Amino acid sequence: MVKIDLHTHSTRSDGLDTPSDLIANAAKAGLDVIALTDHDTVSGWDEARGKAIELGIGFVPGIEVTSVSDIERHGRKVRLSVHLLAYLPDPDHKALEIVLGDTVATREARGRAIVEKLAEQIPITWEMVLDHLDKGATIGRPAIADTLVTMGLVPDRSAAFDYYLSTDGPFYVSHSTVSTLEAIGLIRASGGVPVIAHPLKGVGPDTDPEDLPVDHFEEMIANGLQGVEVYHRDVPETARKWLHELATKHDLVVTGSSDYHGVSGKPNQLGENTTSQEMLDRIVSLGTGTKPSL
Ligand code: AMP
Ligand code: FE
Ligand code: FE
Ligand code: ZN
Repeated sequence: MVKIDLHTHSTRSDGLDTPSDLIANAAKAGLDVIALTDHDTVSGWDEARGKAIELGIGFVPGIEVTSVSDIERHGRKVRLSVHLLAYLPDPDHKALEIVLGDTVATREARGRAIVEKLAEQIPITWEMVLDHLDKGATIGRPAIADTLVTMGLVPDRSAAFDYYLSTDGPFYVSHSTVSTLEAIGLIRASGGVPVIAHPLKGVGPDTDPEDLPVDHFEEMIANGLQGVEVYHRDVPETARKWLHELATKHDLVVTGSSDYHGVSGKPNQLGENTTSQEMLDRIVSLGTGTKPSL
């Protein structure tokens, strides 16, 4: 059976493997097809594609686009962070390029703001964080986590996220970036296939079903969403059935992927969830912005 993993990260964002090492590790893990989906950047595509061709494995270029959705829940406004996987978009599509550039700039300003807050209590500087990043890589909290590990304050990335970088913690600063519906439109306009990444990540198993924003999913679908990443370790078991039913009802693509960030970057390991050949074929026939190498 072919093994297809459509969600991974490299050092071009917050993964720990270079694009070449990622592909080599994918080949070693027995994957037949891999997508590189760094946060808000296409800068790892060429290197990854070259290595994939060299090693004889399939390559699908992608991006994990950061977006936000303001929704109403129980009469209160809440802001959700929504990640959209964009498969096969045209990397030279101007409007998409501008939005990604803005997001990368916002991520830097927000990273600096988090570090400033941390610096009131611990001797961390922005330069120390930059030492943990490839030049030009998309900045995220994991680079700050790696700095805290180097400083000996936490044993690993996960421990850093438990306190210093927690969304509810004292040092957190949120993103403000493109809206989810606008991002879906841009991905489609650039010939890409938008698939929602790890839907409902962070929603606990005993959440009231009314807390699950089903209407928001319907709205995303009405605005062009084409797929749902149902099989991902962070998608709550309680939500998988209805997400799958929703995808079937609207004839959407269903994927499963690892969201690998390097062996020690996160527990997620290459190939731990996979996508069927049939679903990959659908993505390839829907995507018109760039060619995969299969
Ligand atoms: P940011 O993009 O700055 O909001 O940071 C979010 C990123 O941090 C995600 O894409 C994950 O890769 C990573 N992340 C989130 N939680 C953890 C964790 N507990 N351990 C390791 N990495 C994490
Ligand atoms: Fe990440
Ligand atoms: Fe994500
Ligand atoms: Zn991811």
